[in-house]
Amino acid sequence: MKNITVIGSGTMGNGIAHVFAQNNYTVNLIDVNEDALNKAIETIGKNLDRQVTKGTLTEAEKSSTLANIATFTSLKDAASNADLVIEAASENMAIKLDIFKQLDEICPAHTILASNTSSISITKIASVTKRPEQVIGMHFMNPVPVMKLVEIINGFKTSKQVSETIVNLSKAIGKVPAEANDFPGFIANRVLLPMINEAIISLQEGVGTVESIDTVMKLGMAHPMGPLQLADFIGLDVCLAILNVLYEGLGKDKYAPSPLLVNMVTSGNLGAKSGEGFYKYTIGSKDLVVSDRFKS
Ligand code: NAD
Repeated sequence: MKNITVIGSGTMGNGIAHVFAQNNYTVNLIDVNEDALNKAIETIGKNLDRQVTKGTLTEAEKSSTLANIATFTSLKDAASNADLVIEAASENMAIKLDIFKQLDEICPAHTILASNTSSISITKIASVTKRPEQVIGMHFMNPVPVMKLVEIINGFKTSKQVSETIVNLSKAIGKVPAEANDFPGFIANRVLLPMINEAIISLQEGVGTVESIDTVMKLGMAHPMGPLQLADFIGLDVCLAILNVLYEGLGKDKYAPSPLLVNMVTSGNLGAKSGEGFYKYTIGSKDLVVSDRFKS
């Protein structure tokens, strides 16, 4: 494994490129949007600067990390000599199926094709290729350079050998792999999203306020962030999309998204990225201020 291609240079793609480049892999980062590529390189530079300031990285290591990353807007140019491709494009089934169909044509026979999807079936993604045994999920957590976990998702046809290779590679870049089988939500979101949904239902029913629900879970369960703040951080649209995958894929009422969550997403209150969710977000302010709608 030497050449890694990362598809999509948004929130997750830039972090994945950063971690591989810092571990001396050659990274081809590709996005359909040139601005997103420029922004990703700027973000990686800033995050590396922070590591240098903290003393966890030298200036020379920062320079070599940046030198290990090349940017592309053509999938063919970016992926034709890849040993491993990690797709981190938008969470949209049609986009992902199209990318994997193209990758199967473009990449050499030995290339492993991985997806960072939060909820789309790896088996479904693999089914559009002629190499389903070489397709796997590599679900990194946000922010990638900081979070240790990589959830490795074995599709229905993923081979044991490919799975072992990806487990070992994850360890080689300083991460801790945990394996899951391909069922809706895998492990992370199968367990996390029902908790977030229940917190939103508790708010909707008046069991507690935004502050009391988050305080109980933070201090009572030693979670670093309450579930409502975490939902804002993930993005309420993303939470809704994952809950719909669980609800449709597992067919049980317990996964039905809270009507309050549906209303917030429909109104464009998507959490931190839109400026308002359960809390209000002002650029430059780190204060946690409850949204006016939920003030007690
Ligand atoms: P994002 O919206 O920040 O970035 C997605 C990028 O993909 C954009 O820059 C977009 O231009 C690019 N893109 C879209 N179509 C493309 C194509 N055909 N070819 C190349 N690039 C394309 O999204 P994100 O939050 O980085 O999420 C990416 C993936 O990672 C999704 O599958 C998501 O479910 C998963 N994920 C996200 C998080 C998170 O916290 N944001 C955590 C774990 C996994």
